[in-house]
Amino acid sequence: MHYYQPLLLTPGPTPVPDEIMAQIQLPMVGHRSPDFETIAEEAFSGLKPIFGAQNDILILTSSGTSVLEASMLNIANPDDHIVIIVSGAFGNRFKQIAETYYSNVHVFEVTWGKAVNVAQFIDYIKSLNVKITAVFSQFCETSTGVLHPIHKLGKSLKTYDKDIFFVVDGVSCIGAVEVDLVKDNIDVLVSGSQKAIMLPPGLAFVAYNDRAKQRFNEVTTPRFYLDLNKYIDSANNHSTPFTPNVALFRGVNAYVDLVKHEGFNHVIERHYLIRDALRAALTALNLKLLVDDDVASPTVTAFIPNTKDELSLIKNQLKSRFNITIAGGQGHLKGKILRIGHMGKISPFDILSVVSALELILTEARKTNYIGTGISKFMEVIHHES
Ligand SMILES: *Cc1c(COP(=O)(O)O)cnc(C)c1O
Repeated sequence: MHYYQPLLLTPGPTPVPDEIMAQIQLPMVGHRSPDFETIAEEAFSGLKPIFGAQNDILILTSSGTSVLEASMLNIANPDDHIVIIVSGAFGNRFKQIAETYYSNVHVFEVTWGKAVNVAQFIDYIKSLNVKITAVFSQFCETSTGVLHPIHKLGKSLKTYDKDIFFVVDGVSCIGAVEVDLVKDNIDVLVSGSQKAIMLPPGLAFVAYNDRAKQRFNEVTTPRFYLDLNKYIDSANNHSTPFTPNVALFRGVNAYVDLVKHEGFNHVIERHYLIRDALRAALTALNLKLLVDDDVASPTVTAFIPNTKDELSLIKNQLKSRFNITIAGGQGHLKGKILRIGHMGKISPFDILSVVSALELILTEARKTNYIGTGISKFMEVIHHES
């Protein structure tokens, strides 16, 4: 049997809607032209509700990691003490960036697959006994599928010390979760184009409050392409400091239109519905979930096959027989977990395909009949929650 329709279920990149592709393919315009200024102005302001930001969103032509780096270089001076929460591969990336530029880096390790315990974290920063400039955390740790309690973390941090800058990496969940810089006490929130924002890779986004803006201006850490002051100055003139990815800027505007059309609250609900249904289905197929229900991300789900052989079989057969791509584990979870991305242009019925493919693979491999087991649990959740 042949399955012709490819299904990309990695936690980035994600499928790109035709409405976005159509805009991306329009004829090129000069980036120092009124044509582009119109596109850029719309893009900077159009993304504000997605990030829960008061200020226009900065857009860099680079991958998500660039704004992880920019968020650090524009907030912390070389001698400052900074704290990184590491709960997976992307926390490690923040740590590696920090260790490249800074010497006073404090790392709070969280078991991979768990969310940060806010009370323990506050005890930890108290125990450091130094003035801390900034705390860096993932919102969704993509390597495990944990959604950290960012709201609670922001609130507790500012209660401990209102001067601390709270910097959040939302690359794998912004566009699929509710967030508000003011309510969540976030100073800088960064993201990228190729995940829940369902664009091709190539753009990176920075949301910031006024306090962070002032800080960007005072910080002396060397930076050039990643100097956010340049992007703010240019944005005031509906422009960018360097040649932007014009095509993807048009894609941003098409994305914002799609979200407006569906309603952002519905977009978010759809992601949570898919998460709940998929978790019920995987459990019914005797596949263990890595992350507890209360901290499971609506954008990516990690599960643990029974054996290493079963893991390879699932990943390979999904690809070779069913044309479905999912992701493996990262770091020490490589070879132990598989991850299904379900963000952006994903409907519950797309995920139904992967569940039914898993039923066929496991029925053959385990000599147990799973046909209908996963999809009926999946559909029960869809039926009850929607
Ligand atoms: C994907 C991802 C990044 C890195 O983005 P790139 O575009 O690959 O540079 C950073 N943080 C998180 C949480 C991610 O999921």
